[in-house]
Amino acid sequence: MEVRTRFAPSPTGYLHIGGLRTALYAYLFAKKNGGKFILRIEDTDRERLVDEASEIIYRTLKDTGLIYDEGPDVGGEYGPYIQSERKDIYGKYAQELVKRGAAYYCFCTKERLAGLRSQCEQDGRQFKYDKHCLQLTPEEIQEKLDAGVPYVIRQNIPAEGQTTYSDMVYGDVTVPNSDMEDNILLKSDGYPTYNLANVVDDHLMKITHVIRGIEYLSSTPKYNLLYEALDWDVPEYIHLPPVMRDKHAKLSKRHGDASYEDFIEKGYLSHAILNYIALLGWSPADNQEIFTLPELEHAFDVSGISKSPAIFDVEKLKWMNAEYIRALSEEDFIKMAMPYFEQAIDPDKFDLPLITRLIQPRLEVLNEIPEKLTFLSRLPDYDIDLYFHKKMKVTPESALVYLREAYPVLRDLPEFTQSAIHDAMMSLVEKLGIKNGQLLYPLRVALSGTPVTPGGAIEIAYLLGRHEALSRIETGIRKLEDSLQ
Ligand code: GLU
Repeated sequence: MEVRTRFAPSPTGYLHIGGLRTALYAYLFAKKNGGKFILRIEDTDRERLVDEASEIIYRTLKDTGLIYDEGPDVGGEYGPYIQSERKDIYGKYAQELVKRGAAYYCFCTKERLAGLRSQCEQDGRQFKYDKHCLQLTPEEIQEKLDAGVPYVIRQNIPAEGQTTYSDMVYGDVTVPNSDMEDNILLKSDGYPTYNLANVVDDHLMKITHVIRGIEYLSSTPKYNLLYEALDWDVPEYIHLPPVMRDKHAKLSKRHGDASYEDFIEKGYLSHAILNYIALLGWSPADNQEIFTLPELEHAFDVSGISKSPAIFDVEKLKWMNAEYIRALSEEDFIKMAMPYFEQAIDPDKFDLPLITRLIQPRLEVLNEIPEKLTFLSRLPDYDIDLYFHKKMKVTPESALVYLREAYPVLRDLPEFTQSAIHDAMMSLVEKLGIKNGQLLYPLRVALSGTPVTPGGAIEIAYLLGRHEALSRIETGIRKLEDSLQ
């Protein structure tokens, strides 16, 4: 039998990190087993719909390389793959469940249900529908249907006994039937709820392994009762541990750490994110940490999925992102960094391969780029204290002397290349009988106005070009003169 898994997100406007992990594991499980990975959009909750949300899902799966074999925008044998386009399918199965005694019509009004709810609250019980409409006779039901009374269809959970299934991660899960609710399967607007739609669609789409978040672990027995009532095979289940920010809190939209897009916006690389989340709740047999997607497809195994919550460690993600940044070719780095370059400098005016050599090795996330480079387009208004460096024996006084020495040498260089600047500064150091730092440190400060810079004085002078470099050195000399007189 061909393995078929699916990712079934609700289009709520962004792709939660936990959701993307579910997609990844479902993808990996399918690939590992030579099967198919399917995308299904679960949009039956019409109140939660967000425009563009499905586009975000398609785009994210494409960017991360989680290519689905069947789905809304690629088609397939078992479509449509958007639940709202399947609306007419569900009613028939709801009726069939009614016929088989596994579901029933419910005509209760909002008012009656509200009364029931407050009664439960008063008694300190959790709300549970009281099966009121299960008592209706077939004639009464027909009468109401003929009269057009609005109705829902509810699942008829046996009052006694228990339901058990075996999850591939969590093992046997048993839920007493009395803990389950007669949930609505079909709403009065004709749309199914998740309770019905996930069962019908997983069956019709021939899903063999249902992979999803742990929040469905304990409601799965309820769905299994529906499979059984319809004489359908129950799929295998792989429920996944939650993804948490720390022991107590979930990732949240408010903290900007909940979605894939949040991290892309912060300058993380899509493949680094995917690699990191692969390890959120799964560990490989060995200690490998950096994986390409094909390597993951090979290494993934359900036995490596953990039962305990996975903690999302941003520091670890940063480390991994830095690894991915370092591994980029110069060309790819420049391409990916371009939007960030543009925030700080005019890319046409600078030697981007040199900038790349200076910043790529030390970068953790791409959005650190603008702050590292803004000094190139504008000299910040810096404090004279920057010219103190005890270890290098640099003081504002010595800085003034050596900047005055450097200025004419740089002004008169026949060619303002990196090697010419380098050689000229080294001869000057030698001529003055000082240490490199005594010249290069104040020069770097004058050129950048910044305590920490990518690259040193020589690279920065070259990047700025003669004109700008000289003008900044003049500014430095003036600043020092003003404060020392
Ligand atoms: N639409 C559900 C969700 O987004 C899918 C759960 C499932 O995979 O069955 O949580």
